[in-house]
Amino acid sequence: MRIRGPIVDVGEPRTVGGGTDLVEITIRPERGAADPVRVTLWNKWSETADYAEAGMELLVTDAEESEFQGEVGYETTPDSWVVLEPEFLVDVTAVRSWVQCPRMYYLNKLSGVPLKYPVVKGTVVHEVFGDLLRGRDLEDSIDHRVAEAGLELGALGYDRKEVEDEVRRNAAAVEGWLQQGTLTEEDTWRSEYTLISPTFGIKGRADALRRGMPVELKTGKNTKREPRFQDKMQAACYALMLEEQGVDVEGHSPSGSQTQSGNADTATLLYTKNTALERAEETGDLAPAKEFSVGPGLLKFVVRTRNELAAMEFDAAVPTGFEADARCQYCFEQDTCMVVSGRLDQESKAGQIGKPLPAAERAYFEGFYQGIEAERREVHAEYRKLWEQTAGERAEDDRALLDLEPLDREELPGGRWRLRARKPDDAVSKLRPGDVALASDGDPVSGHAELCRIQSLGTGKAGAEIVVEADEPVDVCRLDVYPSELSVDRMLTALHDGVLKGDPGRKDVLFGRRDPEFSGPQREYVGNNDAQNEAVNLATRAEDFALVHGPPGTGKTYTIAQTVQALIEQGERVLLSAFTNRAVDNALEAVREQGVDDAEIVRFGTESGIREDMQDVRLEQAGDPGERISELRDASLVAATTASCGSRIMREEAFDVALVDEASQLTEPATLAAINLAERFVLVGDHEQLPPVVQAEGGKRWAPEHSAATDGGTAAESGGDGATADRPPRLDLSTSLFERLHEMAPEASVLLDRQYRMAQRIQAFSSREFYDGALRPANGEVAAQRIADLPGVDVDAIPRNLRGSVSFVDPDGERAGNTNPTEADRVAEVVDQFVAAGVDEEDIGVIAPFRAQVAEISRRVDATVDTVDRFQGSSEEVIIVSFVATGELSGPIYDDPRRMNVALTRAKKSLVLVGDAGALSSDPFYDRMLDWARREL
Ligand code: SF4
Repeated sequence: MRIRGPIVDVGEPRTVGGGTDLVEITIRPERGAADPVRVTLWNKWSETADYAEAGMELLVTDAEESEFQGEVGYETTPDSWVVLEPEFLVDVTAVRSWVQCPRMYYLNKLSGVPLKYPVVKGTVVHEVFGDLLRGRDLEDSIDHRVAEAGLELGALGYDRKEVEDEVRRNAAAVEGWLQQGTLTEEDTWRSEYTLISPTFGIKGRADALRRGMPVELKTGKNTKREPRFQDKMQAACYALMLEEQGVDVEGHSPSGSQTQSGNADTATLLYTKNTALERAEETGDLAPAKEFSVGPGLLKFVVRTRNELAAMEFDAAVPTGFEADARCQYCFEQDTCMVVSGRLDQESKAGQIGKPLPAAERAYFEGFYQGIEAERREVHAEYRKLWEQTAGERAEDDRALLDLEPLDREELPGGRWRLRARKPDDAVSKLRPGDVALASDGDPVSGHAELCRIQSLGTGKAGAEIVVEADEPVDVCRLDVYPSELSVDRMLTALHDGVLKGDPGRKDVLFGRRDPEFSGPQREYVGNNDAQNEAVNLATRAEDFALVHGPPGTGKTYTIAQTVQALIEQGERVLLSAFTNRAVDNALEAVREQGVDDAEIVRFGTESGIREDMQDVRLEQAGDPGERISELRDASLVAATTASCGSRIMREEAFDVALVDEASQLTEPATLAAINLAERFVLVGDHEQLPPVVQAEGGKRWAPEHSAATDGGTAAESGGDGATADRPPRLDLSTSLFERLHEMAPEASVLLDRQYRMAQRIQAFSSREFYDGALRPANGEVAAQRIADLPGVDVDAIPRNLRGSVSFVDPDGERAGNTNPTEADRVAEVVDQFVAAGVDEEDIGVIAPFRAQVAEISRRVDATVDTVDRFQGSSEEVIIVSFVATGELSGPIYDDPRRMNVALTRAKKSLVLVGDAGALSSDPFYDRMLDWARREL
């Protein structure tokens, strides 16, 4: 049986008769709800006591009930697995670096994967290996894969020929091995296999499976008979997960036979620099493939190692290196290790070099580190939902599209697959074109699943066709949201780069030790809007940073375009960034309209992420290395998302100015990813609209007492590092850098105060509630616009109660979960009434707080229906807002008035609020909103 629960107590390890070790751990089963029970861990599992502690979750499989002194307990059996914190998903590569040295794991997490030739070459060789397994011609594959890495190779100063030769040498060993009869009629192969283990808390992607067992490729040499230990550990992790899944391998075999179950216990490591055919070296084993037996002892060691790592993460502890036997003098990371230890004043086996950072900077680093790790746990919780939720629950939560009907599969020239499926119903989900998702044959965990990129989702209607692309073909019966740790990883590296490698002058202003400075003459850039003109001046004159505060409709994008143009004219190299591809493309469009020469512009990003009309300036990453890198380096303007700014290519780029749009929606570390690359920065945003999306409850506000940098005092306590006691730095992920700097240095900020979007009546509430009444229409025409101004609209055909700029309708519905069908009916009726009066359906937008209500309304109308988040940045002539709630406003969605500020400011001529007056009047903010909306009646 399985026994699982939070640990209440960890006993002292003991040795009993015959030298058998044991430890007793007390847990509360049923997620802590049941009475405590004693669990005895025998033999090697007793080592768990070294790192287990109260509060951690313990899972024991195949436990046996036992009785001792009248008390019923449980104990491990020879078949048991003991897993600590099974909900923390450890990546296989993390287990690999942990066994080398736990501190190496920590350092890798901080600094990410750098742009280094062995890394890029390794990626290319892996791609070629996959191609060979898929039956592709070697030369064709090398040609294609080296070209794909053109930009990175160019940045590293390599030319194509030398890389092709080296890849060929590496790949030749693999091909030779494959041809030596190893790829027989009995072999079945699968390349790139994504695995997630709910039991062991491990995830990863195996390079290949052969007869159901893992094959890992290593682009290096190993002349010893045995594989390297860390490589064995990596392969053993996959073997463990495969055993749990009981994987049936469907793959390619020379005979074309299809499915074969794998139950072998031999894993293979392929060292590509070993060439058995060339026995130039007298000694050593130069066969590229080293097979080894994956016995129960090794698998249990894998799980114990993974447990150690998960336990350290539970405490957010920083490894010192003393936990392992690794010798620092042979470690590639020794310099980095000593610098990080020195700068953060961390204990380390390698020792420290350099002076510690000021206490405020260490506190900042540690505070955000913990916040980011809390976010990582939330990502893991998303993974967990893949197996904890039923298919129906996931669909209900908009996390999956079910019951798809696979249509066809088409092999693409690059070896990837385009897969099509039909959607049977009008279900909606969080999935969007461009997203990475999990396509499966029906079960994303134990079935056949492949990571894919969504090309199109068709419409929201039944019968719509879905198109995805994947490395391997799969029958697409189901599509699931696939959580990614990428943005968490990128925040961490940006934090590392910003604090540990950041320019001291930059940090002085970020930490409030120095005021931002401005220099240079004032000029007229914008003739008819003083605030916009001032914003461009502030941005072009900034020595450190400038902030442009742009409420809805105030010409923020136009101001960005003016600013970018002015900076380029000043001879500056500019980085234009934002959180989403959509925002980057919108800003770039405005810049291009301004007349900035296309030859100066590069849009950095993936083809599927970038809008069609910006593809002509997209930087093609494949091609000749010299040409690719020149195109990037010669560009005066590079536009990229903040996530792309954290890529290994962009981290090597340098700019004079970084301009970040929608900066108020970015966490501070995410903003660092862009501004780290430039000497000065301009943030554009509005902290009165949507804040950064932060999932972790505990990560929202960092309490200084949680910091480990207490020796020198935290920033708040020290008072000596600029962040004074009466102005402690606000270090929480839900406060953007934009907002923090806006509070800290109001003199560096300009408010764009004239709006070009909304009628006077519509903007009045937002202006009063959020902008101290400073927001006003840009001119009389904007202020006086009415629905009757739209061509072909017969205002008399609109019901009297909807004719004003702002109206309120109470449909007398009833909330059911996150929907309100009666309200949806009423919203549809209002849409129909506007359409009947001549309003084009495309000019109408409907906003609802929950996706379930979005789906409910979408079934009834053809107008655009979406949540507030999706509407930010856009506007419509008519906006209808559905509130769903009845009786009371319950749910966090109603808690932040800034969401409502976004919803209410999307309308130009007519805003219709549809909701329950009783619920809305139960909250002072919504009550004031109701007053305002009803005044028009
Ligand atoms: S230098 Fe020493 S402590 Fe640091 S990562 Fe390497 S082996 Fe570990």
